Amino acid sequence: MTTENAVRIRGVAASPGVAHGPWVRFERAAPVSAGRVAEPKAEVARMLAAAETVGKASERLAAEVTAAGHPDEAKVFLAHAMMARDPDLLDAAAARIRVEGVDAIAAIAGAAATVADQLRALGDELLAGRAADVMDVGDRIGRELAGLASAGVRLLEPSIVVAEDLPPSVTATLPRERLLGIALEASSPTAHAAILARAYGIPAVVGATGLLASLKASGPGSALALDGESGEVLVSPTRDDVARYETRAGAIARDRGRDLGEAALPAITRDGVAVDLLANIGSPGEAAGAVSIGARGVGLFRTEFLFLERSTPPSEDEQVEAYGHVVAAFAPRPVTIRLLDVGGDKPIPYLPLKDEANPFLGVRALRLADRQPEIFVTQLRACYRAAVKGPVKIMAPMVADAGDVATLRRLADRATSELAADGRAIGVAELGVMLEIPSAILTADSYAREVGFMSLGTNDLLQYTLAADRGNPALERYRDSLHPALLQLVRLAVQAAERSGIELSVCGEMAGDPEAALALVGLGVRALSMSPASIPQVRRAIRVAKKADLEREMLASLGDRSADDVRARLRRLV
Ligand code: PEP
Ligand code: MG
Repeated sequence: MTTENAVRIRGVAASPGVAHGPWVRFERAAPVSAGRVAEPKAEVARMLAAAETVGKASERLAAEVTAAGHPDEAKVFLAHAMMARDPDLLDAAAARIRVEGVDAIAAIAGAAATVADQLRALGDELLAGRAADVMDVGDRIGRELAGLASAGVRLLEPSIVVAEDLPPSVTATLPRERLLGIALEASSPTAHAAILARAYGIPAVVGATGLLASLKASGPGSALALDGESGEVLVSPTRDDVARYETRAGAIARDRGRDLGEAALPAITRDGVAVDLLANIGSPGEAAGAVSIGARGVGLFRTEFLFLERSTPPSEDEQVEAYGHVVAAFAPRPVTIRLLDVGGDKPIPYLPLKDEANPFLGVRALRLADRQPEIFVTQLRACYRAAVKGPVKIMAPMVADAGDVATLRRLADRATSELAADGRAIGVAELGVMLEIPSAILTADSYAREVGFMSLGTNDLLQYTLAADRGNPALERYRDSLHPALLQLVRLAVQAAERSGIELSVCGEMAGDPEAALALVGLGVRALSMSPASIPQVRRAIRVAKKADLEREMLASLGDRSADDVRARLRRLV
């Protein structure tokens, strides 16, 4: 602790909570290559044996993480086992040994780095996060070849672990009883270091550029403080900083207690309008937490996470188990299962796709159904089978018009008639569409009576309405969900749903922002689906608002010039 000012670094929030204390740097000495080899054949065999050892060790790690109560997170290590045996990776490494004559350590390191670079170059945050997994596996094979112990961190006292990046295998084995927090110079919130930190409830900040240089300058023995909600990292915090962090820690603990205590309260405005608050989830393991925070169902289950990081698609039975687990956790409340939303910018290895100049405008999501009907029919079969356990809604992503609704219906009919022929027990599942392309809203009257519900995917809707790629940081100005153009489309969707007498919800990020959520209520939306962590704050915002005020201001906002104008209106109300 110092009396001078701390060095303040702005990173990216990755796992909520605050921490302060001494830090320990994780640094992995790379296994050293011995140079060239005389007998390439024997060297390839040595590499394959090391890869198999790492594959088996990954399976053991998966069993340990499962036994520790984190079955979802354990899947990372099953994926690692698969990567360690991935023929593409091993063939590329073997070719380096045979053609370039380098040893197995250099060959596997080079092959893993190439795959990781390819993943990063795809410009998708989720896939870039997987680059760390490939590097982790490559490094562990190298260590095995060099006879080095597996990389790990020793914490002699409660500490914050800092690193350039933290391999998942190291994150999973950190001694949690002495781990205060994690601060990474690189990485992203969707990389596995962050996913594991969230699962274990460890505060974490990633993308803290300049952190390692500042720690070097401050010397060993200095302290660190981090805020996993704001993304702030303080190197050498002052006494005042530490006092502030301790106050925050107390407030966070109180907030958590209050949030759980309020879980049963309805989200109802002061003038009596009820809003359904639902959860967005990406894996079955998130269901229990969402129920406990008061989610009244699942408005969006992003199933693509079950399909990534593997070399074959999940079987129908595997999917029935994953969906059935969530359906059982929520029954009699409904669970909305979104059909596979991949392709374009989110490739998966076992779906051969053509390169496209504009992947966001290309053959993605439901548009893959013509070329790959089986993958959708299998998923639909699993949805209908899971519906035996409780109400299920099946939602198609990237619907553009009535033609896409017809495709959805055709696939669903095929799934149900196949299941009937197989004599399988099935439940009732409603079909619905995501509204994330403006044309789907503009033509909603032409198909709305053929579906049971519609849900606005405002993340994609915003990018397609304003022609602004959602992953391009230079276009931040166009990514404000209170933009009057987006609000106009929301209004049109509400009116179309009313005319057809079907339900409309919003499941884009907008629904989890308290201010934007109020805007949506003002526009007539009565179901909001969001990350479970956002439910308490949105519920509180709704309980102090009046629907009549919101309605009046949002009607006026449709003529506003900018999102800032709309925001100013909403702020005048509170
Ligand atoms: C959306 O586009 O708003 C949405 C909810 O789907 P995703 O973010 O998964 O594309
Ligand atoms: Mg979308």
